[in-house]
Amino acid sequence: MGLFSKDIQSMDDLYLHTLEDIYYAEQQIEKALPKMIDKASSDTLRQAFEAHLQETKGQIERLHQVFARLNKDPKGATCPAIDGIIKEANEISKDIGDAQVLDAALAAAAQAVEHYEITRYGTLVAWSKQLGHTQCADLFQQTLDEEQTTDRKLTEIATSRLNPAA
Ligand code: FE
Ligand code: FE
Ligand code: FE
Repeated sequence: MGLFSKDIQSMDDLYLHTLEDIYYAEQQIEKALPKMIDKASSDTLRQAFEAHLQETKGQIERLHQVFARLNKDPKGATCPAIDGIIKEANEISKDIGDAQVLDAALAAAAQAVEHYEITRYGTLVAWSKQLGHTQCADLFQQTLDEEQTTDRKLTEIATSRLNPAA
């Protein structure tokens, strides 16, 4: 776009930007999860992270399908929100000297990530329907369901195991 125009003019532009935002975010999450797996002491938490890493790879594949449906090349747009959430997780992890407290912090950090994803996928489902991209709406909805299930699973693990142990 030229000097005198802004890049995002239409809902189609905003939709594509939001797709690129979550594509970038999922890639950062794919990189962050192995580090969280390394830091986790609880087997249950580690297994939950491992399962979600596999799910995340599938979610990235789904985003490729969305780009293909829209006839766009997969491209990420820097997401300052996910960068900030991951940065905060790294910083707090460095400051924690107790393995059980670290597990509680890792679960909380992971839930912050899930909640960001839930807002984005919720919006993308709504906008897909609004713009007539029905199949994209289905793909986003499948991922939204996985993020919500992961969030609930982390709540369950944290409240039943990690928090009482810390
Ligand atoms: Fe995800
Ligand atoms: Fe973002
Ligand atoms: Fe997720």
